[in-house]
Parts: sequence; structure tokens; C-alpha cells
Amino acid sequence: MSERVNELEKLIAHHQKRYYNGEPEISDGEFDLLWDELRRLDPANALLSRVGADRADGYPKREHIIPMGSQDKAADPEAFLRWAERVGHDEFIVQLKMDGASIELQYEAGRLRHGVTRGDGITGDDITANVRKMQGVILSLPGGFTGAVRGEVLLSREAHRAKYADKANPRNAANGLMKRKDGVGAEDLEIVCYDAIEATRDDFFRREEDKLAWLVQNGFHIVEFTKLTDPSRIVEYRAQVASRRDTFRFEIDGLVVKGQEIDPDDLRRARPERQIAFKFELEEAASTLREVVWNSSGSLYTPIGLIDPVRLAGTTVKRANLVNPRLIREMDLRIGSRVAVTKRGEIIPKIERVLENPPDAPAIVLPEACERCGTRLVDEGTRLTCPNQGCPGRSYFRLRKWLDVLDVRDFGDAILTRLFESGRVNGIADLYTLEEGDLTRLERMGETLARKILRNLYSVSTIPLSRFVAGFNIEGVGTVIADKMVTAGLDTLAKLRNAKTEDYARVNGIGEVLAATIVRGLEDLGPQMDAVIATGRVAIDVPTGGPLSGMSFCFTGTLASMTRARAQDLVRQAGGSVTPSVGRGLSCLVTNDPGSGSSKNRKAVELGVQIMDEQAFLELLGRTEESD
Ligand SMILES: [Zn+2]
Repeated sequence: MSERVNELEKLIAHHQKRYYNGEPEISDGEFDLLWDELRRLDPANALLSRVGADRADGYPKREHIIPMGSQDKAADPEAFLRWAERVGHDEFIVQLKMDGASIELQYEAGRLRHGVTRGDGITGDDITANVRKMQGVILSLPGGFTGAVRGEVLLSREAHRAKYADKANPRNAANGLMKRKDGVGAEDLEIVCYDAIEATRDDFFRREEDKLAWLVQNGFHIVEFTKLTDPSRIVEYRAQVASRRDTFRFEIDGLVVKGQEIDPDDLRRARPERQIAFKFELEEAASTLREVVWNSSGSLYTPIGLIDPVRLAGTTVKRANLVNPRLIREMDLRIGSRVAVTKRGEIIPKIERVLENPPDAPAIVLPEACERCGTRLVDEGTRLTCPNQGCPGRSYFRLRKWLDVLDVRDFGDAILTRLFESGRVNGIADLYTLEEGDLTRLERMGETLARKILRNLYSVSTIPLSRFVAGFNIEGVGTVIADKMVTAGLDTLAKLRNAKTEDYARVNGIGEVLAATIVRGLEDLGPQMDAVIATGRVAIDVPTGGPLSGMSFCFTGTLASMTRARAQDLVRQAGGSVTPSVGRGLSCLVTNDPGSGSSKNRKAVELGVQIMDEQAFLELLGRTEESD
């Protein structure tokens, strides 16, 4: 037995080191299993009473205001219910457990002084410069607050997909980004808070709920939470959250359950006993990789692993996403590798890491040529693509994407493939020249079905700009990114097509690379877009909310002809929106003193936001004076 304890000690130490260096090899779930096994075999083991050392060098170390203890964990309902009975709270605060990297924001007399990573729980890395760039950070608090605000540094799934897909998951990416010496990418990170500690007075917060309300009042983003009294309802809530975990912006790996009443002494323990992490079931399984197929969607080739069937999160899994050539190389993934497969809310599970490579396991061979056009594929590491702009693969998937984005029912792959291969439909515009005869000519297609398909196609006749653009399958541009472009003010097709790389790069969530892809894509696809509009069958929906529709306004200083509240109402009545601060995507800053050097003015100039005076604002509203 002591041999196993030795082995566990080594494994835990190794994985802690990897974890704190931002390069975890195993999932949290699997780490917890090791931890639990050690606790079972040797409850007094010294390793259990401390958190692993932080070996990331180069940052000054800084002590936490009170130790950042490690949470006790329950992986199944039985363990959770035992804990709940033991602590006997009357009311529980149940928070989502965000899967990111912990951070402590230290305030002195209301000013943010330090941002400290978890480290070994006692001291961590002082990464203040990076923290200041993150979203959700509040630099100054009223009332001279001295103490700590704790939260999780997170990267949204969307940002992970769009910009950091070479990292296995958002948490790994967040861990790496927050510790980057050059600070690049810190602005993509967000801090979501769950705790606060006033350093000088233990009774500053008495109830968890008040603490959360205080965080919200001061502008922090907080984790979603609910209040429950019955522990069995918490078990149900966990199942409910688990079932919709892939709908959250961030990855979550369970719940954190605390009592409503705060016990400051308990918080100081290395493992606070009055709260627990109630994690989701371990969604990981071992299997063997048998074959790799390359899924092509347009120009992009994605490796999909065919694995021995294995039960995972209640379903039998036979396929796993291998993501890209670089990950295959980094993991040294081979045909015949024993692999750990995980499901973190994605639809297709991922291969998390290689458990073992049998001797002579053959390497995975990348396809050399495009299966559609024969062009040599380009291996960019994070992407394997066919560079041929005229590749039929691109054209076909553009049609498919268009029909999917517009949600045209009954227009399946079989029908589309036959129309495409016969040469009847090459581009999106061709779809709108289809007649019943074109369809009934196809095998097994009756008149009724043909009519239904065409009716479905033609019934989607006005569509929002973002969907129109997303339907053209520009790489990396789905409806979410397209929506962001539109909300940022690029709200007509003409504006989108005239915008330059730097205009796109200014939109939140779009980086330089994607911005360049968008500009190139819109240029290449311009003629096809015109052709679609020219069919007269599809129009871009122009919001008819009023003259200011789609525009956002911020006011600063006083107005001569009306109160600010009145002006804001007029904007809203005219279909525009009002924001309290100047940010990206703002259409206009209204001020009668543009030279005042106020922070709003300076920021507007910096961001290239249009600045107008009251007179210009009234003219825009279509009225020369306030008349009612
Ligand atoms: Zn090709």
C-alpha cells in the first residue's frame, strides 16, 4: 500500500507543477481522483494539507490577504449530501464553479494595488500589469475598501475558438495568457468574482448574499448563483446546470456550495469546511485511437479520431475531435495510442492526452492534397487548409452554410449534393433560380416534396445583415462574430464592404488575423453577394425602428435646450440606444464642449468615436429645437 502512496505523491506533485505552470496534462476530474485516493490511503499525508508550489518564475511573489484555501470536493451526490448534513446550513448559496484560474485583487484604501495568482495558496505571482488589462477589473472602489476581491480569470469559449484554438481548452489558454510577460492577450481575459474579504473587519460582510450584492454594486461581474435550502434540490440543480453547461459563455465544472452565514475562521483554514466544490461527474474515459478521418468543411480540414467505442457522460462515444495538426504533434498522438477522451460540454468529445503509445505505433499522416480539387494542402499548424479560392469544396460548403444559417427546412445534403454535382447550382444565387422541374428531375423526388422545399427556401426572404454575412461562410465568421460587427456600427452591407482591417480589429472579439480574413473574404465574395441580392428573392432586413436605429449615444456635460434625461428619451424613441460610458462600438458622443479634455472626450478621440454638439444632434434627430 505504501508503494501506491509513494506513487500517488509523485503523480500529484508532478501534475500540480504542470497545472501551476499552465500546462496541465490531466483534467481536474482525474487530478481529483488521485487526490481522493491519496486521502483514502493516507489521510495524514503532508501533501494533502498544502496546495502545490507555484514554480512559474519571473514574477514577484506576493502574499494573499488571507490564505487562498483549496476547496473540499464532492464528485457525487452521496458525498455532497453527507457534507450538507454535517455542516447543517439553514440556507445554501449555490454558485457556478467557473473553470479558469484563480486571482486575488488586492485593494488598499479603495485603490487596486495588486493582482495575485493562487500560487501555493499562501503566496502567488503578482501579475498586476496584466490584471489591469482584463475585462471586469475595477480599479477603484468607493469607501476606501481595503481587502481582497477574489475571482476567476476566464477566457470565453468564443474567444478560445476564434483566437486560441491551439490550446486544448479555454482554461489552459487563460492560464498561459494571464502570465505572459508581454501582456499580449490579457485584454481577452475576463474576471468573474465570487468572494470578497475586508482585511480590517471580520464583520464587514455577514452574509454571502450581501457580499455578492456588494460586488455587483461596485461593478464587478459575479458568477451566477442561486439560494436553496434543501440539499436534495441542490443535487437536482447540479443536474440541470450540467445539462445546459455548453450554453454558458464560459466553461464551468460544477457548483460551489456555501452556507449563507459567513464564518471568517473557516475561511482561514487551508481547506474551509463550511463550503464545498460539488463537481460534475468526471466526463473522461480511456480508449484507443484506431483511425483518423479528415472532415472538410469548405477549405478547412479537421482531424476526427475514430476510437474504440466507450461510455462517456451517458452516451457511447466513437469519435473524438483531434482539433488540428499541431495538437496531434504536440501530444505525439499515433494510430493505436491509448488516449484519454473528455467531454467538457462540446458536442464531439476531445482527446485530452495520450496515456500510452505502443511500440511501433504508426504516425498520423496528414492528407497532402485537397480531396475536392487536388490542390496541395497548407499545414499552418493550427489549421490545415486548401488554399485554392476556386475549390469546389469551398463552394459546396458555402451553399450548405447558407441553407443552415437561414434555417431552410428539408433542403438536405443529398439534394444539395446532386444539384451541385450536376452543375445546376454553383453559387448561392443559383439556388434562387431553381424551379420545380430542377428538383423533380432528381431521383426519388416527388412534386409535393419539391414544392415544399422551394416554398421553404423562398419563405426566408428578408434576413438580418449578420445572418446574410454569416451565410457566406467566411472562415471564422459565424452569426456571433457577424452580430458583433453589426452592433459595432458596421450595420449595412456597404459599410462592411468598405471597412478596413483596422476597423474590424477594433471590434471586440475580432483579432488582427480574423480581421484580415474578413476583409479578404468580403472582397472575394462581393460579386456573389451582389448576385444574390440581384435575384430579388432575398433582401437584407433594414431595421425600421426610427432614424437613429442601430446607433448608440453617450452624453457628457449639460445641454442647452433640454435635460440630459429628455435627450436620452428622444434617442430611444428614435430607435437608438444610450450608453453611460464611451467604449468601442459607440456611434456618437454628444457634448457642447468638445475641447474640454474630459475623460469621455479623450476616450472618444482615442477610439475614433464621432463627437457632435447639441445642434448637430438635434439636426440628426430631425428637429431644430425642443418643441414639446
Ligand atoms: Zn480544394
